[in-house]
This record gives sequence, structure tokens and C-alpha cells, in this order.
Amino acid sequence: MENTTINDTRLSPHFKLGEFLNLSKYPDNKPTMQHVVNIVYGCLMLLEPARQLVGPIIITSGFRNPRVNALVGGVKNSQHLLGQAADIRPRDPQQFQRLVEFLKGHTLTDQLLTGNGWLHISWNPFGPPRHYVRIGYYK
Ligand SMILES: [Zn+2]
Repeated sequence: MENTTINDTRLSPHFKLGEFLNLSKYPDNKPTMQHVVNIVYGCLMLLEPARQLVGPIIITSGFRNPRVNALVGGVKNSQHLLGQAADIRPRDPQQFQRLVEFLKGHTLTDQLLTGNGWLHISWNPFGPPRHYVRIGYYK
């Protein structure tokens, strides 16, 4: 599939596949259908409801193939490799705390690790969420 087609593939009302891949920087960062299904789950269950609350959400890192994950220094078993995680921030920085509180309280949050103005959120469509929350995890 051409990159423009991949990028424009809509996963949910406000999120497109391209936002999770960064193909302009990493042209080989292509997901399998299972990865896409996992990303869609995150969009529908967590990211769309979050967006409804805090407005537009910027995805700074979504899916990563092993090469990209190594390049950005991700841990070896990163959920980004599975399409089960995203690093995000609200377009409006004032909404950050509201976003953290929402995801902290969400039953489907698997892992929530916050940094300064951004956070890592993960989900697991195949098992019970761990609800592991660490505020200020990234210094
Ligand atoms: Zn992350």
C-alpha cells in the first residue's frame, strides 16, 4: 500500500493511521493488520473519549517496529511494538492535568507513565488491564 493511503486510513472519528506511524521519518515503520486492530482498540476505548474531554491530542510516538523502537531507545518488550501504546500530549498544554486524571481513572488503562507535559498510555485488548500508574515517571 502507498504511504499516502496508509496515512489517510481513518481508525476512528479523530485519528488516522498515519499519526501513529511517522512514515515520513521512518518509511519502513509499517504495521501488520493485527497491529492496526490493536491501535484501533486504543483509539476507540481511550483516545477518542480523552479527546472528547481535552480537545485535540498529538501523538508523538505510536506504533514502532523493532528498528524504530531501538532507534528511539524503547525498552525491548515495549507495547509500542504491538500497537498497544502511544505517547501523547494535548494540543492545549493547559489540558494536560485533565488528560492525566481521565486516563488515571479509566478502567481500560494498562499503563500510564507521565512526563513533563506528555504521557505514555498503553492498553491490552487481550487481557485484564494492569492499571499501573506512575506520575512523573519520565524526568
Ligand atoms: Zn511510550
